[in-house]
This record gives sequence, C-alpha cells and structure tokens, in this order.
Amino acid sequence: MDKETRLRLAVQKSGRLTDPSLDLLNRCGLKLSRGKDQLLGFGENMPLDVLFVRDDDIPDLVQEDVCDLGLVGLNVLEERRLEMEARGAKASFQTLRTLDFGRCRLSLAVPEGTTFEGPASLSGKRIATTYPYTLAHYLRERNIKAEIVTLSGAVEIAPRLGRADLICDLVSTGSTLQANHLVEVETVLQSHAVLIRTPVPLPAIKNEWAERLLMRIDGVEQVKESKYIMLHAPRAALPAIRKLLPGSESPTIIPLEGSPERVVVHAVCRENVFWETLESLKKAGASAVLVLPVEKMLA
Ligand code: ATP
Ligand code: ZN
Repeated sequence: MDKETRLRLAVQKSGRLTDPSLDLLNRCGLKLSRGKDQLLGFGENMPLDVLFVRDDDIPDLVQEDVCDLGLVGLNVLEERRLEMEARGAKASFQTLRTLDFGRCRLSLAVPEGTTFEGPASLSGKRIATTYPYTLAHYLRERNIKAEIVTLSGAVEIAPRLGRADLICDLVSTGSTLQANHLVEVETVLQSHAVLIRTPVPLPAIKNEWAERLLMRIDGVEQVKESKYIMLHAPRAALPAIRKLLPGSESPTIIPLEGSPERVVVHAVCRENVFWETLESLKKAGASAVLVLPVEKMLA
C-alpha cells in the first residue's frame, strides 16, 4: 500500500462510531474490501484505505501522520487536546468537518435525592470521570476546586461504591444514568463525530482525493434532510408558496400547458418537509404536491 498515493483514514474498529462512519463512507461511494477482524480495509474504487482502531488512538494516529484522516468524537479529541496542553505540547490535528452522527454529551450527574444548585455546588466534591482533562478545564473556567477521580471505566457505579460524590460521563438518552439512580445536572461538552486531518501537507494526488471526499461528505450531509418538492399552483399564489418552502433558494417555475394562470413549481428544500408544511401549502392554493427524497447533490 503506497503512502504516497493512497489516503489512509482511521475509523473506530468496533463501537458506536463504527457503523455510522462506514455508512458515511459508503454513501460517499467507497467500496471497502475488509476481511473479518482485519485491521485495514482496502478501498477498491478509490485510493483510500481504512485503518480500524480504538477511538482513543485516532487523534494521535492522525497528528503523528500515520493516518491522513480520522473520524472521531469531539469528546475524545478535546480530551486529548487538553491533555497535550497540560503537558506543554500543542495538538496539531486539523478539524475539517462536523458530522451528523455520534451525538452525545459529557455531563455531570448526581445521585438521586442530592441537592444541586449550579456548578458552585461542586466545590470540594469528588467527581469520577474518564475525562479528567475536560473536567479539569470546566472546573478551572468556573473557578471551582473539586477532586477529580480518574477512572478507566464503569464511572456510573463510582458513587454507589463510595469512590465519588458524583460523576462526569457521556450521556445520550440518559437510560444508563437512570438505571444507576443518577440525575443529569450540567452539560460539560456537547459532542458529535468530526473528521480530522494530519497537519502535514499531502502529496498532490492524495490532496485531490481528500478534497473529493470532502465534497462528497458535504453532499451526503446536505441531502440527508433535503427533499425535492413538486406542486401545481395559481400564479398569484407564488409569493405565499415560496415563503412556505423550507430552506429552498430559487424554485423552478414552469408554465402549465393550456392554463396560463397556473404553474408547476419544483424546489429543493434543504430542510425536512413536515405534514404541517404541506397543509399550509395546500391552504395557500397548491395542489398535486409531491415530496421526493434527494439521493445525491453536488453544489
Ligand atoms: P473503544 O473500544 O474504541 O475505545 P469506547 O468504549 O471508547 O470504544 P464507544 O462507547 O463505542 O467507545 O463510543 C465511541 C464514541 O461514540 C464516544 O467517544 C462518543 O464520541 C460517541 N458516543 C458515545 N455515546 C454515544 C451514544 N449514546 N450515541 C452516539 N454516540 C455516542
Ligand atoms: Zn474509547
């Protein structure tokens, strides 16, 4: 595998980011051949290979230029950045895109029945977390002195074991917290997946493919919510109808054969189209309204 000509992208090997990352690459047109448990997936139709690793290793693989690109959670990235900063070094990965998956938040949660009156209540408390640097940063910014109990996992049982008074952990639905009789009280960091790249300049051919991949990712992210709307309307109703089309720029207006007062409107809406919108369109005079999914888009 030629490092001069093939891009290498780091993806989580097995976890919450794996399927959505592979799904994104698949939507970008990448066909990967990957034997079961293989560390490297070979891009059959693009000069791009995927290295499957633990998510915590992704920031360093990218900033040490082992991989050109990486898909990783902002939470992992921030923690590593702050850790390096604390050691007097500077993180050098570049963030290229914010992606629409891996949404979660790093939150503070207290045992049920504990009174919590804002961040000041944290003063003097022991907080268990696997994100000591992000938590320390949060506390420092608010001038709060608390003890950080750094764990490598199973943070949610720390209060019951008497190891901490509260926790700082990743939450998405909150069901794990609930199961452990914990209540979320503060958000420390809102997180989502991001695409990062090496600080090292890429050879021209790889750079060209990195740019193409970015364009495709943008296209994929755009079409997710986008819909193509077609409808018939009286010409006089056009101003009202245009206002109702969510996130559309300039719709195409086509005259209807034989009825000069009526037109066909075609528009790409870059936001989801709800039933309420269709009902309002109908009220405004639209008829024969069709909403179609958009499969691909290239600006
Ligand atoms: P690894 O073995 O790779 O270290 P892990 O146990 O650290 O795996 P996962 O639990 O698979 O990691 O989570 C990976 C990332 O997914 C998290 O760092 C976070 O960015 C994101 N994440 C966490 N919880 C959720 C969730 N409930 N929904 C979506 N994304 C999440
Ligand atoms: Zn991890």
